[in-house]
Amino acid sequence: MTPSKPPKVETGGKACGATGASRMTSKLQDTLIENSLGKIRHKLIIMSGKGGVGKSSISANIAVALAQRHLRVGLMDVDLHGPSLARMMGLEGLLEITNDRFAIPMPYNENLGVVSMQSLMSEPDQAVIWRGPAKTGVIRQFIADVRWGELDFLIIDAPPGTGDEPLSVAQTVPDAKALIVTTPQDVALSDVRKSIGFCRIVHMDMIGLIENMGPFDCPCCGKSIEIFKQGGGEKTARQMGIPFLGTIPFDPRVVNASDSGSPAFGESASASFTEAITRCVDGIMDQLS
Ligand code: ADP
Repeated sequence: MTPSKPPKVETGGKACGATGASRMTSKLQDTLIENSLGKIRHKLIIMSGKGGVGKSSISANIAVALAQRHLRVGLMDVDLHGPSLARMMGLEGLLEITNDRFAIPMPYNENLGVVSMQSLMSEPDQAVIWRGPAKTGVIRQFIADVRWGELDFLIIDAPPGTGDEPLSVAQTVPDAKALIVTTPQDVALSDVRKSIGFCRIVHMDMIGLIENMGPFDCPCCGKSIEIFKQGGGEKTARQMGIPFLGTIPFDPRVVNASDSGSPAFGESASASFTEAITRCVDGIMDQLS
């Protein structure tokens, strides 16, 4: 058997005992982060209790829907173990780096730019084992060292759960607000309560909960099909005292759209998917106004 290539391990350097030079670097980075965030009106972190509920798909589709309203949008993928946004958006190749060493978000269209770990790796399929401090370092760099420019929205796609990445976002982007995605299924809902609890512990405002993969009408007989049941998201939002922004139906065309590198909103999706995303975006705007 040929030995496989060892995974790359990112440790993030020493966990303690910062030198004078590294303290100075981190002060400079604080300033860069402050400058970058100062130009961004709304920062949304998209969270979920568990994987596979469609969090990245919702992040991508909401970003496209906002950009279609002529808002300037940045989409930042902080799912460092399983970055998928660049692929979902059909963006290939590496990020462009300026002479003064800033990264330029990859343009999806004139209003929407994307930064994902995928666009920094020359071998995108190689596993990188991330230790906690390294993750925080990358998330800080994604803000400090990227030319986001003036934005109306920065959408931050976090990995599922309540680990290092959402915590680093909460610490680095103090005015970020959380948008939580779940399916209506009981197991997803019990995890989503943990995400809500996390936001309360770190004092992060929640703009609401979106239920994804809700019932859809069968294209053959028109009967409503509930793959993951229905209504659980709304019930959980009510019980936990956070706004419910709506249900996005399951739409088989969304699966093809992700694989072919184009978010489904306004393009290949069913009218009911597009209408549901539009309603959720209206709800987000209402919550923020
Ligand atoms: P997560 O980010 O929560 O892990 P993804 O966004 O990667 O989830 O979605 C998981 C899978 O579900 C993908 O194949 C995606 O295309 C599909 N998907 C997401 N939302 C929907 C939907 N509303 N209808 C049908 N498929 C969906």
